Parts: sequence; structure tokens; C-alpha cells
Amino acid sequence: MPALQAQPSARVDVLIVGAGYTGLSAALTTARGGRSTLVVDAEDPGYGCSSRNGGQISTSVKPSLEKLAAKFGLERARGIRAEGANALRWIGEFVAREGLDCDFRRAGRFHAAHTPGHYEELTRDAEKLRQQEGIESFAVPRSEQRRQLGTDAYFGGVVFSAHCSLHPGKFHRELLRLAIGAGVEVVGQCRVGAITRSGKGFRVETAKGVVEARDVIVATNGYTTALTPWLQRRVIPIGSYIIATEELPEATIDELFPGDRIASDTCKVVYYYRASPDRRRVLFGGRVSASETTALAGAARLRRDMCRIFPQLENVALSHAWSGTVAYSFDELAHTGVQDGIHFAMGYCGSGVSMAPYLGMRAGQKVLGLSEGQTAFDGLPFPTRPLYRGKPWFLPAAVAWYRWKDQRQFRKALRMT
Ligand SMILES: Cc1cc2nc3c(=O)[nH]c(=O)nc-3n(C[C@H](O)[C@H](O)[C@H](O)COP(=O)(O)OP(=O)(O)OC[C@H]3O[C@@H](n4cnc5c(N)ncnc54)[C@H](O)[C@@H]3O)c2cc1C
Repeated sequence: MPALQAQPSARVDVLIVGAGYTGLSAALTTARGGRSTLVVDAEDPGYGCSSRNGGQISTSVKPSLEKLAAKFGLERARGIRAEGANALRWIGEFVAREGLDCDFRRAGRFHAAHTPGHYEELTRDAEKLRQQEGIESFAVPRSEQRRQLGTDAYFGGVVFSAHCSLHPGKFHRELLRLAIGAGVEVVGQCRVGAITRSGKGFRVETAKGVVEARDVIVATNGYTTALTPWLQRRVIPIGSYIIATEELPEATIDELFPGDRIASDTCKVVYYYRASPDRRRVLFGGRVSASETTALAGAARLRRDMCRIFPQLENVALSHAWSGTVAYSFDELAHTGVQDGIHFAMGYCGSGVSMAPYLGMRAGQKVLGLSEGQTAFDGLPFPTRPLYRGKPWFLPAAVAWYRWKDQRQFRKALRMT
């Protein structure tokens, strides 16, 4: 682990709250732009999602072009969708340019259909994506599915060739190395308790003392608290859970993931999985319970679901289980901008591996006053809901309903084969 600083300086140009992908990427940008930069994290840097995720990289923007066009007009919608492709392209270039050791691969994604109806829909949507946005993909019927994924549980799927994967912990460590190398002070165990205006800048109270900063960037995503109540009212914290199998024979991994593609499916409560970067284990993620649970309690259910897709793993033990908290937004879009003079980027809706460092970089560029910091997300309304204060009381009912529906569709489709 690169050397962290024990105490923060009393005065800096830029203070960043949160040392995940967003915060470190913003810090790298401002430090390289000549600003003294401090990143503080309430826990150890990387404690949040940025060291715990599935390492899958897609185009990261969930709403379709049509849906966005109906809300914001076609031009803006195209701009927003393009940011997903920009983030995907950017991360590959960034990893290559900086020579990051993070097992980055562009092996593509197999997005699997959990019913025949979903296969039809998926192939129609993929064709639309190709025509409207130039997103390359090809359909794989069920009869050829095993060339992509060692299972008969699905009804075909679509391969998105440009999707990538990396080792999330290594990527975070490399970002930390770059940031510290650029002169960023990174201080862990340093929770920010209050941010108030002070002259032309801000007075930031941290667990390790007060810091005066000209600019502040909040990069707390799923760990956003009442420190920033306006943001807390706009992001929905949701737990996501992953299990890892014990080490498996090479032949098993080759059978399950023949092309080393990452995988996900059309279930509303999606499963995402892959071979580990060293191709020794299966990493299987998803959301298994209506309410938040412990990683250990969630593991048994995830294991059952994994074995339904891969019966080959029935007698395989698990070696690890963990969880983290992602941030959804009410419009399923990431958001970045400035509120009360404080910069922010968050709300990646579970797809932040490329979008978080990309928007972190853009936030850093905005602080530097560079025009390229502007994104198509800037100035979008960041919706909340009446009475919502950051505790998603509605989530258990919604997850229970969608999970029930997914499982029923899944079982019914398989019974009919
Ligand atoms: C299990 C799991 C699997 C995932 N899989 C994928 C995937 O395959 N692909 C994908 O694209 N995305 C995935 N994600 C989402 C992705 O990891 C996140 O979108 C991304 O890492 C967010 O980065 P971040 O820097 O914004 O936030 P985080 O990495 O969560 O960092 C936020 C930090 O803020 C700190 N903080 C909060 N409050 C304070 C405070 N008051 N003072 C100081 N520090 C504070 C926290 O301690 C935390 O370290 C997954 C997430 C999880 C949990």
C-alpha cells in the first residue's frame, strides 16, 4: 500500500471527501493541475465500493435513448448516452497510458436472457443500440450459449464485445499510487464532520483537525451521510453482495467461462459474475434479500442461486463473501455538479468502475476551471422524493417483488423446456 499521511495539512487548495475511485481520480487531476490536494476518508482509503466491486465495466448509463429523449430531448439524451461510451473508452486509455497493473481486459460481456421473451427483447434492443449508438454486439441463441458460458439455465443472450473487466482492488491501489505520486495527501480514519463556508472557501472539520480549503469535492457515493443532507436526499444506498468459490480446477473455469467474458443477466434484480482475474475462482454477485443482511447470511442464498445457473458448482465450497453499498438515484443516472459551492459526483447505480473515476476526473477539471470538465450530466435535475431523507424504507418491498417475479419467470421458462 502506498504511504498515507497521518495528519492532514491545515490549509489546502482542494479537499476531497472519500478516497474511492471518484475521490482519487479527482485528486489526481487537481494535483497534476498544480493545486495542493488532500483526500480524506472516514475509514481506510478504498473502504467503500472501490475495492469490493465485481470489476465489470460496461457503458454504465442505464436508461435507454428513448427514455432519456422523452425527458430531456434527443440531443441531450444522445449526450448522456455518449458519456457512458466515453467513460468506457477513457478507462482503457487511462490504464494503458498510466501503465496500471490491474488485470484490465477487454474480453466482452455475455448478457444472458432468463426467459425466451427476454431473449427476443434483448436482441431487438441490441440491434437498436447498434443502429442508434454504434454499440457493437452479437446475439447468441441458446443452442450456441455454451460457447460463451457453461450453463443451460438461460435462453441465449447478447455479447457486448467492448465491455471490460479489471481487478477492483488493484485498480484502487494503482489510483492511490498515482495520486500520492502526484503529491496528493491521502489521510485515512479521518471522517469529515462538517463543511461550512469560510471567506472565499470552506472550513472542514475532520476527525484529525480543521482544514481550510478553497474547493471541496464530495465523493461519498453509497456512503453519503447527513454531512451533505442535500445529496443524502438524492441517493439511495443499496447493498450488493459477492461470493467467491474456493480455487477450482482450470478445466472447470474453462468450461464455465470459455472466452473469459464477464456475465450478467436480464433479471430485474440482476446477477453479475465472472472468473476471478487469476481464473482460479468464480466470483458471483447479486442482491439476495429484500432487506440488508450480512455478507455471510447472504452467501448461502447467493450460493444456491449460483448453483442453479452452474450445477457444476454444487459440491464446491466458498472461500470469501463480502458486500458493499452502492448509490442508486431516482432517475437511474449518475449525477455531478456543484451544490452550495461544493462539487460532487455520485449515483452510479451499481455501474461505477469506469464512470466514477471518469466523473471524478471531470469534477477535478471543473475545479481547475477547465472547459473539458463539463459533462452531459451537468445541470440535470437531481431528483428526490417527498419525505425521503436517505433511508430507503421502500426498498425491501420493491426488491422482494422483483426477486419474486424474476424467480417465477426463471422457473417457468425452464419448466417449459
Ligand atoms: C459488491 C459490489 C459490486 C459492484 N460491482 C460493480 C461492477 O462490477 N461494475 C461496476 O461498474 N460497478 C460495480 N459496483 C459499484 C462501484 O464499485 C461503485 O460505483 C464505485 O466504486 C464508486 O466509487 P466512489 O469512489 O464514488 O465511492 P466509494 O468507493 O464507495 O467511496 C466512498 C468513500 O467515502 C467515504 N466517506 C463517506 N463519508 C465520509 C465522510 N464523512 N468523511 C470521509 N470519508 C467519507 C467512505 O468511507 C468511502 O470509502 C459494485 C459495488 C459493490 C458494493
